[in-house]
Amino acid sequence: MAPVVRFAPSPTGFLHIGNARPALLNALYARRERGRFVLRLDDTDTARSTAEFAAAIDEDLGWLGIVPDRRVRQSDRIALYDEAAERLRRAGRLYPAYETPDELERRRRRQLGRGQPPIYDRAALRLSEAERAALEAEGRRPHWRFRLDPGPVTWTDLVRGECHVDAGSLSDPVLVREDGSYLYTLPSVVDDAEMGITHVIRGEDHVTNTAVQIQIFSALGAPIPVFAHHNLLTTASGEGLSKRLGHLSLRGLRAAGFEPGAVASLAVLTGSAEAVRPVADLDELAGLVDLAHVSRAPAKFDEHELEPLNARLVHAMDAAEVAPRLAALGIDPAVAAPFWAAVRANLVRVSDAAEWWRVVRGPVTPAIADPAFAAQAAALLPPEPWDGATWKGWTEAVKAGSGLKGKALFLPLRLALTGLDHGPDLAGLLPLIGRARAEARLRGEAA
Ligand code: GLU
Repeated sequence: MAPVVRFAPSPTGFLHIGNARPALLNALYARRERGRFVLRLDDTDTARSTAEFAAAIDEDLGWLGIVPDRRVRQSDRIALYDEAAERLRRAGRLYPAYETPDELERRRRRQLGRGQPPIYDRAALRLSEAERAALEAEGRRPHWRFRLDPGPVTWTDLVRGECHVDAGSLSDPVLVREDGSYLYTLPSVVDDAEMGITHVIRGEDHVTNTAVQIQIFSALGAPIPVFAHHNLLTTASGEGLSKRLGHLSLRGLRAAGFEPGAVASLAVLTGSAEAVRPVADLDELAGLVDLAHVSRAPAKFDEHELEPLNARLVHAMDAAEVAPRLAALGIDPAVAAPFWAAVRANLVRVSDAAEWWRVVRGPVTPAIADPAFAAQAAALLPPEPWDGATWKGWTEAVKAGSGLKGKALFLPLRLALTGLDHGPDLAGLLPLIGRARAEARLRGEAA
């Protein structure tokens, strides 16, 4: 049976590189196993979910190369959750509780003070009909808790192997709030069951949820999917990533000029058995990712790896691939191919090409320490047309005329022609600069 996986973000913020990890692990799994990938928006928190964030999620996934086979929103599916909650109530697995957050907190402190684990004591289960009526008469509305079966919950995790959680060590989770709205736990199970999700691939922060949700699947008579809990990306110092880290949002990284292949590689290969490396596309990445080889240790990543990774990708791109982006930077399409060939090895980002285009077209303020040498070099410039061999022929003539060689020859020429002491190979740049500008610069004019 072809697997069906899902990525289930809440549209309450922009996706960041930490969310790209489960998104990609799911999408790559579907790609590898010829399955389907569902994008499910967990938008039951209506106060914080927005249509803008929902649209941005789709756009950011698209940038990474992920196109969902199906899209659903939990806010369209409340009737399914109502029906499931009703079934759990009838089965005695969902019970009303009336404690206020303050009351629960006091009880928790008392338990801790006595050295007991702070687990919900199920006082609400012991309320008589009359006591419930009295609480409701006070104006209290119930929230609803799922009655866990005590004992171990076990599953074979595709990343973590055999897993056991003792349900007796957990509080009965609240599934429905006082206002009738749902927390994440139940809708997720209802959707996974209804949509035929075969594999739930998500962060290890959900391991406890999984134990609870396995019991909910069983209580609803639904098949239990396979689970895989991947390690979470952390900063190099071990801190978790939060949505507040705007510069690591996918759109922030895109705006900063990073290639999706660099971001995807860092998001997925960090903390895996494979070295982080540039990948051209998701098919290549899919070939490198095996859930069984995802490490259980935190996936410490270093955002400074992005630049070298990006540079390696950019250096391998050909002119046709980047043509529209070069045109958008204002680079003349007629010379974009030789220009790209001349500069790409010096770029970290495609957008850095704009700076070298400015050096080609000017105006450049030449830096000239020895005007006589520069004038002599100007006089030796051959007539056009120029090509890739012009630089060599010209500098040999300048060398013979001046007696200078090596750095003493080349650096002053570079400083005069570009105003800079570093940059792409001048053999490629010189024909693009052209004779008129080259001569003017060597004579000390901004051109
Ligand atoms: N909305 C949940 C989250 O973003 C989904 C978790 C899951 O994959 O089940 O954490």
